[in-house]
Amino acid sequence: MFDKILIANRGEIALRIVRACKELGIKTVVVYSKVDRESLAVRLADEAVCIGPAPSGSSYLNIPAIISAAEITDVDALHPGYGFLAENAHFAEICESCRIKFIGPSVDNLRLMGNKALARETVQKLGIPTIPGSKSIIKDKQEALEVVKKIGYPVIIKSAGGGGGKGMRIAHNEISLLNSIDTAQAEAEASFGSPDVYIEKYIQRPRHIEFQILADNYGNIIHLGERDCTIQRRHQKLIEEAPSLRVDKELREKMGRAAVKCAKSIGYKGAGTVEFLLDEQGNYYFIEMNTRIQVEHPITEMVSGIDLLKEQIRIAAGERLRYQQKDIEIKGWAIECRINAEDWEKDFSPSPGRIEKWIIPGGRGVRVDTAVYPGCVIPPYYDSLIAKLITYGKTREEAILIMRRALEEFVIDPIKTTLPLYKEIFASEAFWEGKFHTQIIEELLQEK
Ligand code: ADP
Repeated sequence: MFDKILIANRGEIALRIVRACKELGIKTVVVYSKVDRESLAVRLADEAVCIGPAPSGSSYLNIPAIISAAEITDVDALHPGYGFLAENAHFAEICESCRIKFIGPSVDNLRLMGNKALARETVQKLGIPTIPGSKSIIKDKQEALEVVKKIGYPVIIKSAGGGGGKGMRIAHNEISLLNSIDTAQAEAEASFGSPDVYIEKYIQRPRHIEFQILADNYGNIIHLGERDCTIQRRHQKLIEEAPSLRVDKELREKMGRAAVKCAKSIGYKGAGTVEFLLDEQGNYYFIEMNTRIQVEHPITEMVSGIDLLKEQIRIAAGERLRYQQKDIEIKGWAIECRINAEDWEKDFSPSPGRIEKWIIPGGRGVRVDTAVYPGCVIPPYYDSLIAKLITYGKTREEAILIMRRALEEFVIDPIKTTLPLYKEIFASEAFWEGKFHTQIIEELLQEK
C-alpha cells in the first residue's frame, strides 16, 4: 500500500480523498491555491503545499508546480480527483515518468477515452450499440451533409475532446447544421485545443444511464450497477439516482455486460464509468467513458455498500479486486443533489461570496459531502459545486421523502444556491413518478 499520496484537487473531492486515505492509514499532501489556504482539506491533510495564485491555470492546472510539490514531499502516488487534470494523459505520463503513481487508468486509456470520437469507434467495433452518426471526425461540411442525409435531423455536433456538457450543438435543419459546424469547430478549438467534431443523431427525450466499473491490474472487472443522471441543465448533471426506475434486472445485466466488455477490451484499470443514453423505446447507446472517479460516485456507494475511493486506491496500489460480480448486491435507493453556488433564477449565474449561515441536514439516511463551513468564502475562480446532498432509503419513495425534509433543513445564507430549485423538483409529480428526460429542467424553466 502507498505510504503518502498527493491530492491534486480542491473542494469536496479533495476532502473526500483525504478521508479515504486516513481510513487506509495513508499520509496525505494537499496542494492548494492562495485562495484555498483556509480550506478544510488543507486543515485536515498531513501536509499542504501552495502551488500558485487563484486562477486554475496558475495552480490546479499548473503541472510543474504540482510535480514539484509531489517531489518535495516525496509521495508515492497522486490522486487527481475529478475535473482539472484528472483525465489529462500528458499529466499522467509526467507523473509516471517521475515515478509517482497516477491514481487512474493507463496513459493509453486516458488518451483513447479522452477522444470521444475514437472511443465511439472503438466501442462500435465491439458490437456495443452507439448512436447513429459519423464514422469518426467529420472533415468538412460536405461530409456532415452526407452523414445527415443518412440519419436525418435533428443531429448533435459534439467536440471530440469535450466534457462537462460543453462543446455540443444541436441542429434541426440544413441551415443550422452548416452554421453550427463552424461555431462548433471554433468552440472546440478554443475550449479543448482541437477543432475535431463528430455528429450523432440527437436522441429526443432520453435518459442518461451510466455504469460504475472497477477493474484491477489482473484482468478482474466488475460493474456496480447503474446511476440515472437524467436530470440535467445544459447537458450538465444536477440530480442523480441509483438504481434507475427505467432499468430492470434484464436490462441491467445487458448494459452491465456491455460496460464490462468495453472496459475489458481496452485493458482498463481502476474506477471508471461507462455512459449510455436510453431512448424512449428502451434502446441503449454508448456515449462515452469517463476515466476517473465521478462527482456522483456516492450514490453507488450507498446502494452497493462499497467505498469506491478506497477501492480505487487499493487497485492503484496493486491489490486484487476484493469482489466478484456475484458479490455485488444493490440494496435500497440513493439520490444526490448537486448544490451549486448559482442564482438559478438569474440564468444560473455564479453566486460566490462568504457563507455566513451554514446549517447542514443530518439524521437517518442523509450524507453531505462538502468542504464548506460557516464563515468560509466561495471563490469565484472554480466550479460552482459547493455540496452534494445524498439521501438513502429502503425504497425510492423513502429516499425522496428524506430528500424533501433534508432540503428543508439545509440553510445557506446569504449566497444564492440551487437549493430552492431542488425543492420544486422534489415536489413535482414528474419526479415522484419518475417520468422525466434530459430536457426536463429546460421545460420546467420555460413554463415559468
Ligand atoms: P460530456 O462529455 O460533455 O459530459 P456526453 O457525451 O457525456 O458529454 O453527453 C452529456 C449529455 O449530453 C448527455 O447526458 C445528454 O443529455 C446529452 N447528449 C449527448 N449526446 C446526445 C445525443 N446524441 N442525443 C441527445 N442528447 C445527447
